[in-house]
Amino acid sequence: MRHQYHPLGFEGSRIAQGFWRLQDWGWSDQETLAFIEQCLHLGVTTFDHADIYGDYRCEELFGKALMRKPILRDKIEIVTKCSILLPSEQRPEIKVHRYDYRSEHILSSVDRSLDNLQCEYIDTLLLHRPSPLMDADEVAQAFDHLFTLGKVKHFGVSNFTPQQFDLLQSRMDAPLIVNQLELSPLALQHFEDGSLDHAQQHAVTPMAWSPFSGGDLFGAQTEQALRVRNLLNEMAEDLAASVDQLVVAWLLRHPAGICPVMGSGKIERLQSAVEALQIDLSDDDWFRIWIASQGQPVP
Ligand code: NAP
Repeated sequence: MRHQYHPLGFEGSRIAQGFWRLQDWGWSDQETLAFIEQCLHLGVTTFDHADIYGDYRCEELFGKALMRKPILRDKIEIVTKCSILLPSEQRPEIKVHRYDYRSEHILSSVDRSLDNLQCEYIDTLLLHRPSPLMDADEVAQAFDHLFTLGKVKHFGVSNFTPQQFDLLQSRMDAPLIVNQLELSPLALQHFEDGSLDHAQQHAVTPMAWSPFSGGDLFGAQTEQALRVRNLLNEMAEDLAASVDQLVVAWLLRHPAGICPVMGSGKIERLQSAVEALQIDLSDDDWFRIWIASQGQPVP
């Protein structure tokens, strides 16, 4: 029997945890499992992966940890991605760093992710980056097949322009429910290029990757980073919140319903982000951060 598409769209937690850096954390399976459980304790149930993370190893590390407590599978939402080919010792057949949107690649990538994650289904599969060679009909067919087999529940994209999103959506029955984009006070491009307007218009959840610009927000010495950091430090004192919390609150304030994907393996950092859900950033404060990042007043 054909499964029905779920009408509700993205049903993840308001804040997600990313596992791009999982391998760097050097954890045992038990430590990874403990981290997963601590995330759940904080109400963070959505976990972001990609086939290529950690040189194709992070999904497997996560899967091994999850296998220690399989009952957790249905309490979490796994987001993973496909379509980047990365030359690697793990994948000697890959010769060129490029993208692959052939149906056979999408299907085999999902099978590998399911094996590595030791799961029977992926909650949301994203196309990692747009490709000039993407044939939307072929991708839509592959998605339909994966859905019918019960291997993937929802589909989305990452780093897609609104036009690329619309092209793929026009060939699909299922709604694309996510566009994962780089969004932070140091990365304003998608606030202005129509991506977030498009997400709001179509009730697509924008997931924010690198919400702290990969840590640059705390350490980079560019003029923009210094301006934003100085302001955030001042505001943190006035608002009795920490700099990281103000950044999370700034993303959460956006009407498109941004879901920040946190990148640290330190649970106290995630706890701090979750506490930011309680901060109701005023529009004055939101624009102070915007203006500091732009380096000039709004027109
Ligand atoms: P991020 O949160 O912007 O950066 C994490 C880095 O910031 C870590 O090095 C962390 O250091 C540092 N950091 C965090 N909080 C800090 C604090 N309070 N003080 C000082 N340093 C702090 O996120 P990210 O790791 O770059 O990306 C998050 C997730 O987005 C990834 O895991 C991945 O799932 C996803 N992603 C997706 C794409 C895509 O194309 N779709 C691209 C990149 C990433 P510590 O480790 O010391 O905490």
